[in-house]
Amino acid sequence: MHEVSNREVLETLRELNAERVLIQTPEGLKGEAQNLADFLEGNGIEVIISGDINYGACDPADREAKALGCDALIHLGHSYMTLHLEVPTIFVPAFAKVEVVPALEKNIDKIRKLGRRIALVTTAQHIHRLKGAREFLEKHGFEVIIGKGDSRVSWPGQVLGCNFSSAKVKAEGVLFVGAGYFHPIGLALATGKPTLAVNPYSGDAIWMDGEAERLIRKRWAQIAKAMDAQSFGVVISTKKGQLRLAEAKRVVKLLREHGKYARLIAMNHISYPALEGFDFDAYVVVACPRVPMDDYENWRKPVLTPTELEILLGLRGDYAFDEIVGVERDKDEPLGIALHGGGR
Ligand code: SF4
Repeated sequence: MHEVSNREVLETLRELNAERVLIQTPEGLKGEAQNLADFLEGNGIEVIISGDINYGACDPADREAKALGCDALIHLGHSYMTLHLEVPTIFVPAFAKVEVVPALEKNIDKIRKLGRRIALVTTAQHIHRLKGAREFLEKHGFEVIIGKGDSRVSWPGQVLGCNFSSAKVKAEGVLFVGAGYFHPIGLALATGKPTLAVNPYSGDAIWMDGEAERLIRKRWAQIAKAMDAQSFGVVISTKKGQLRLAEAKRVVKLLREHGKYARLIAMNHISYPALEGFDFDAYVVVACPRVPMDDYENWRKPVLTPTELEILLGLRGDYAFDEIVGVERDKDEPLGIALHGGGR
């Protein structure tokens, strides 16, 4: 993983005239957070480290930083996301060291099946390898399109589990470089195009169409389970980058218009055990789309996304992935600052 550039963080804090900062970190960078804290305190900046687990740029601890009287937040491990922030926030992404070209080379015959004009996308961890990947593919005769994406992503060609805007370009197929299934399945569903996922660690390449179909079958089963539900808990997250209050209100209105009982429930960390005591037949999660999709087996009640609810209510025919679109920052709000490039 990328080494946190302590000096660069210090220089940015000095530009902000910050005297006290909060450091927020994912599980895997706790050691780096502690080193950074020691370094900053050695240079006259008071530091508090947040002990809360953080999963993404969508959950900055800027409110907590403000409550603690900090002038800035250092958010380790994730790339910049445009959000309505309460204190200046320095996003310090982590980049994987693995090369991606060897895996592309190994799978060039499969990649050719996508067509000549292809959309190239990846996650923030591999974004620094995208240029090399593009050059390699162009040398092999491909026309490579790297979409700009909306304000939720930090770099052209970057995708998130909740945002595939950079893949929505004129191309015959989508080439995803990265590990894991959730992003490429989402890409296949969101673009409706043949999608190949090339894993730079294992060197494997997997077609996502079959995976996407399997996921859709599971999601249709959830929709069917909720068919007789009369009462719905509509769950929103108070995490800043997952908070979709207007969308949640639209969902409540839709449910009530269709004669259902609906109630908004706000949570910070959404998990079923905390909802057990409520009396609802089913839930709609209007937050990170991964919550209902990755975790549904742990819910005793059916749990849907907003687009799945529209299918249930007969308002939509085809299956559609739940995406979160980017917001625009108001110019008088505190800045999000992207270290190592990215940002808008
Ligand atoms: S997929 Fe979920 S955790 Fe990841 S950025 Fe989107 S809302 Fe956050």
